[in-house]
Amino acid sequence: MFYSAAMDASTTESPASDAATAGPHRIDALPVENRYARLGEPFCVRTEPTPLTRPRLLHVNAVLLRQLGLGHDEAVRPEFTEILSGNRPLPGGEPLSMRYAGHQFGAWVPQLGDGRAILLGQLRDRHGVLQDLQLKGAGRTAFSRFGDGRAVLRSSVREYLAGEALHHLGIPSTRALSLIVGDDPVRRETIEPAAVICRVAPSHVRFGHFEAFSYAGDVSALRRLADHVIDEHHPDLSERPDRYTMWLRWVVDRTAGLMAQWQAVGFCHGVMNTDNMSILGLTLDYGPYGFLDGFDAHHVCNHSDHAGRYAYDQQPVVGHWNCARLIQACLPLLAEAPQSAAEIGQAVLDRYPDAYATAMTRRWRAKFGLKDERDGDPDLINHFLSLLHRGHDDFTGSFRALADVDTARDAVPPPLRERLHDVEAFDAWLEHYRDRLRGEHSDDAQRRAEMNRTNPKYVLRNHLAQDVIAAAASGDTAPLDRLLTLLRRPYDEHPGLDHYADEPPPEARHLVLSCSS
Ligand code: AMP
Ligand code: MG
Repeated sequence: MFYSAAMDASTTESPASDAATAGPHRIDALPVENRYARLGEPFCVRTEPTPLTRPRLLHVNAVLLRQLGLGHDEAVRPEFTEILSGNRPLPGGEPLSMRYAGHQFGAWVPQLGDGRAILLGQLRDRHGVLQDLQLKGAGRTAFSRFGDGRAVLRSSVREYLAGEALHHLGIPSTRALSLIVGDDPVRRETIEPAAVICRVAPSHVRFGHFEAFSYAGDVSALRRLADHVIDEHHPDLSERPDRYTMWLRWVVDRTAGLMAQWQAVGFCHGVMNTDNMSILGLTLDYGPYGFLDGFDAHHVCNHSDHAGRYAYDQQPVVGHWNCARLIQACLPLLAEAPQSAAEIGQAVLDRYPDAYATAMTRRWRAKFGLKDERDGDPDLINHFLSLLHRGHDDFTGSFRALADVDTARDAVPPPLRERLHDVEAFDAWLEHYRDRLRGEHSDDAQRRAEMNRTNPKYVLRNHLAQDVIAAAASGDTAPLDRLLTLLRRPYDEHPGLDHYADEPPPEARHLVLSCSS
């Protein structure tokens, strides 16, 4: 067991009150709730996990452990690894896989569902929020179709890292409590070791859940599911006669906001099918995702996405399209008469462009350290982005370095100038930027501090994940720990670890990532 090296002692989150739990709990004596299981058929199918051969706990998320009210030393008990690998039942749990459908790369797929995810049960955390404990990679389910129900170590490490990276960038995401590897060989392009993570999120319900029941013509199931989500996550809306409209408005606003958050840090999801869109606006289902290195607005991180449907600059558009699919599926809930339902639905959907633009403009402004709103700001922002795009200059590094611009007329050029390809264009732009900052009496030191809390220094670049995966495959989790330390404080300086902020070396620039996981 690699536990002792892997137990991270991160304390980056505020302590929670113990009021909601009697804690600390043992994993085999949790007050498990099974609210989703209560829905029964056709929403889910009882599914027992398939045991993993010789499961070893590679890593445990100490912050989540605490948040879930589990004792600090819980992870050393064999029961922890056995339960979270699927080798022993979670006492009190009613394990299940969920039914959903979805639009994959624009095409309607009527039956998807949890093909390799099993919801063990739900647990109220120390903040009083009910959290799903969901195993990913724990074997075949009723929805596995031709799949083996497994996940490989490579993709499990990537998901484990990504949840932490996005969460600590302030972006809503599912997270993982544990990373367990087994001996079972899994065939992808090559044979790889199987792994199981335990995902934690207030819900794993997707847009595709609603599409499944709507297009099967089961309006009563559609309504039951919507009521379930509203009652569980929006209790303030439960009693309102317009609850479905209000709920969908929330989802649209939330999704638009999530897209703005992704764009602002250069996160590319890679597979924005409607079955990967969370009804709570969480980042969900990490596959061939990537953070931008050199900025290319049309960057496609998923090598299976030949048409570039999910390119970086398409994400906000796809977010809108996906909301349209959700609302369309939910039309029968909005009014009796189809015409009225369509009008209400369209009005809800029409919130998206403004919601996105408002959220995005606010984020760009913050990234440039601009306080006031001025007419010329969109041009100023766009010129800088096109300059980065033309030169394929590093997205994260360039924004981070932007904080070092001084507004004084005789100031020396900022170090950023050395990093960029088109120095002439930058010099011209810099004049405007400095003028703009002087125009609002921007205080250099204060702006710098604020920008450094907005523009991360460290993001989860693919080549960094790759190094961690290679080490983890041989049982060495020290690199995983090191990277997690940075990702959990992405805005801080970490002396001695500056190279983690660098662009990938040339040989690591063309890592190929596909849907295979
Ligand atoms: P994804 O591309 O991971 O979002 O998965 C799309 C669909 O395929 C979902 O229904 C998954 O549950 C299913 N799926 C993906 N990989 C597997 C697998 N190895 N075994 C069974 N089902 C899978
Ligand atoms: Mg998926």
